[in-house]
Amino acid sequence: MVKVRALSKSFGANQVLKGVDLDVRAGEVVSVIGASGSGKTTLLRCINVLETYDDGSIKVDGVEVGYRETNGDRRPRGERELARIRADIGMVFQLFNLFPHLTARENVMLGLRKVRGLRHAEARTVAEQWLVRVGLGDKLDSLPFEMSGGQQQRVGIARAVAMNPKVLLLDEITSALDPELVGEVLMVVHELAREGMTMILVTHEMTFARDVSSRVVFMDGGRVAVEGPPSEVFGAQPHERLRSFLARIE
Ligand code: ATP
Repeated sequence: MVKVRALSKSFGANQVLKGVDLDVRAGEVVSVIGASGSGKTTLLRCINVLETYDDGSIKVDGVEVGYRETNGDRRPRGERELARIRADIGMVFQLFNLFPHLTARENVMLGLRKVRGLRHAEARTVAEQWLVRVGLGDKLDSLPFEMSGGQQQRVGIARAVAMNPKVLLLDEITSALDPELVGEVLMVVHELAREGMTMILVTHEMTFARDVSSRVVFMDGGRVAVEGPPSEVFGAQPHERLRSFLARIE
């Protein structure tokens, strides 16, 4: 479903991604872990084309996301094409990124109306169904500031999955939450995983990564350094830098 090959990305002189390869099959949940600055967020932002990438390839369901390729000629995609491609790649952000002047229902409806082209009544029904699914049936008319962080993040998840994306990217979605609110958000992600949603998640919650992932990827210095099932990655670890990362974080 997602195929990343030799992906490179620099910010000025700082090369952040140095040839990343990653495959995510349909229905897989892949957690990306690694020290601060190792390039995890940049990788997700490239997959969603919130950042352009310099070299390499990112295909989602066979389509190169950032560039249009004709006869070997590679040109960056225009905003309209990008909007269409991004509609299939859901993203949930650390800081929720909800529209503050819109209710929970309106936040979820917006993409359904503007990008998916659903009629008002249809968008409303889909939005309400997803908000109920994430346990917010009683918050449909609430504005973001009237909700807890955990509730806002569940709106963020509902907004992303309501679009029926091919893959869902989750970028440290519990990092900004008070500890007691983390569980309710992770429960929603667990449920989506059980239902077969393809997900790539950047997380610092190692227990969660261990429980929810089919595969774990450890990034180090802009490269995938270790990759494998959670039992291997979190088991007796020959990779020294991963060992010391895990020892620091746990
Ligand atoms: P964290 O766990 O702290 O979120 P990360 O592994 O997700 O870290 P990134 O956020 O991908 O790391 O950042 C990797 C590097 O890229 C860092 O050195 C960061 O300063 C740099 N970087 C990220 N975004 C930009 C930007 N828009 N402009 C310039 N440099 C950037």
